[in-house]
Amino acid sequence: MSRQLFAIFGDPISHSKSPLMHNLAFKGLGYAGCYNRYRLVEGEKLKETFFGLKLKGINITVPHKEHAYNACDVLDSFAQKVGAVNTIVEKEGKLYGYNTDAPGFLKAISEFREVKTVLFLGAGGTAQSTSVILRDEGYEVTVLNRSEGRLKRFKQEGFETATFETFGPGTYDLVINMTSAGLEDENLPAPKEILEKVIPTAKACIDVIYGKETPFLKLAKSYKKPVKDGSDMLLYQGIIAFEHFTGHRYTFDEIKVYMQKAFIL
Ligand code: NDP
Repeated sequence: MSRQLFAIFGDPISHSKSPLMHNLAFKGLGYAGCYNRYRLVEGEKLKETFFGLKLKGINITVPHKEHAYNACDVLDSFAQKVGAVNTIVEKEGKLYGYNTDAPGFLKAISEFREVKTVLFLGAGGTAQSTSVILRDEGYEVTVLNRSEGRLKRFKQEGFETATFETFGPGTYDLVINMTSAGLEDENLPAPKEILEKVIPTAKACIDVIYGKETPFLKLAKSYKKPVKDGSDMLLYQGIIAFEHFTGHRYTFDEIKVYMQKAFIL
């Protein structure tokens, strides 16, 4: 088999761990693949760029997951349902689209037992796909966002929603930061007065941001809550993408052995 080329498309893209994760797995498993990063500025050019670079598969990150969805010829049922694609594989000239963020997130939180109610802070693309998979699995998800606009779609899909102004705090087993607050700044994802009502009664607090302790996780720790950042989500979405890239030739655990090394280098 000649070497297959893969990449991650996004903007910005220099910080991405995906090339390291996938190349470690290709090398460890002896698969003839090579994974690079590509800064894609214009999402409309995703398809022509993919074929121009002679790629076999890509991951897509901010801000192109909707463009990726539109570029696909075939969508798996979950990607279709949530309207966001973060993994594309070329098969016989057609682009097949998948969403691995949501199943990756679901696996990442599976260690938290006896959880029923979840409060999402944030209503962006990541909240969109993960809220649907959690609901499919029987969790009750409430979505709190600083502004009204992005809440519309959640409301239409029957989720409980609120803005900071309309929120009447309840009790939630998990409180999860799904915003980018704390990523490149020191902001909390919601006003401190709200967080100080929902964190004390939570079983655990989770942040999808990885690689740093965010102000949200610091606050949760000050209440002695178990906390978790977004590293496992990143790892698991990558493993599931790798399964698609390689035609499910390897098991989840076989891929994990090599891919997880990206987090200890
Ligand atoms: P989007 O741009 O789609 O949405 C951003 C959300 O954050 C919106 O709800 C926005 O609110 C909110 N927000 C941004 N800044 C603030 C702030 N200062 N205070 C309160 N709310 C704020 O982003 P994504 O959904 O694509 O990504 C969200 C996060 O998830 C990012 O940090 C990203 O890095 C992370 N992520 C992690 C992954 C992993 O594998 N660990 C995978 C994918 C994403 P508003 O609607 O009012 O603008």
